[in-house]
Amino acid sequence: MHPPEARKLALRLLASGLTVREIHRQTGIPRQTLYYWKKDPEKAAARVVPTCPHCHSRTLDGRPYSYVLGLYLGDGHIVRSRKPEVYRLEITCADSWPGLIEEAARALSEVMPGQAIGRRKSTGCTNVGAYSKHWPCLFPQHGPGLKHTRKIELVPWQQEITDEFTGDFLRGLIHSDGYRGMNRVKRPVNGEDRWYEYPRYSFSNRSMDIQRMFTDALDRLGIAWRQMNRWNVSVARREAVARLDEFVGPKY
Ligand SMILES: [Zn+2]
Repeated sequence: MHPPEARKLALRLLASGLTVREIHRQTGIPRQTLYYWKKDPEKAAARVVPTCPHCHSRTLDGRPYSYVLGLYLGDGHIVRSRKPEVYRLEITCADSWPGLIEEAARALSEVMPGQAIGRRKSTGCTNVGAYSKHWPCLFPQHGPGLKHTRKIELVPWQQEITDEFTGDFLRGLIHSDGYRGMNRVKRPVNGEDRWYEYPRYSFSNRSMDIQRMFTDALDRLGIAWRQMNRWNVSVARREAVARLDEFVGPKY
């Protein structure tokens, strides 16, 4: 192995057009290696700035990953780009959650460092996304068809991360497919109907698998929930809402 500094310098010099012989003289890196890097600078650069936890054994930061995984399962998708083997991950951020776009962009750049994060405005939302060859490594749930029409399962290493950073996972799921609003209920008091308002979270996803990931995560944190109907789960008890507010927060 060559020290990262020498690698970086060598790649820079290669890009500047210096000869292999001269770069070898300056960095001590064998000529054969330099010829190999010259042929495939992208692969060589990936070794200097490792991007993929799967392919380049880079350590994955579990906290932002858990959040991005929640966002992705809620309202994200991975599409093949026009370039071969390059994918684009996009997270749809509703405009009604101000601050979400910036937070999603920051988390994405922590999960896939070195990639430009793009923002594409659409009606009522902004798509935050980045290109990489390695999105399917990080999100093996990627596959043909809509998420709710096929089986979605976490692989063991993802399960470990969401077990450890459950709050971040829930935060991502709620920021993409959840809602925090006021619920109005009528209660009779001394023979008179009174209206009460209290905050409530609801989560809506058409994939039963993703719904189960959401309710499993709530169970892990001891947060009470209720299945409202086929596609919606609600968290309405006062102490449960207060607990979610600690790390999800009202739309800010
Ligand atoms: Zn990879």
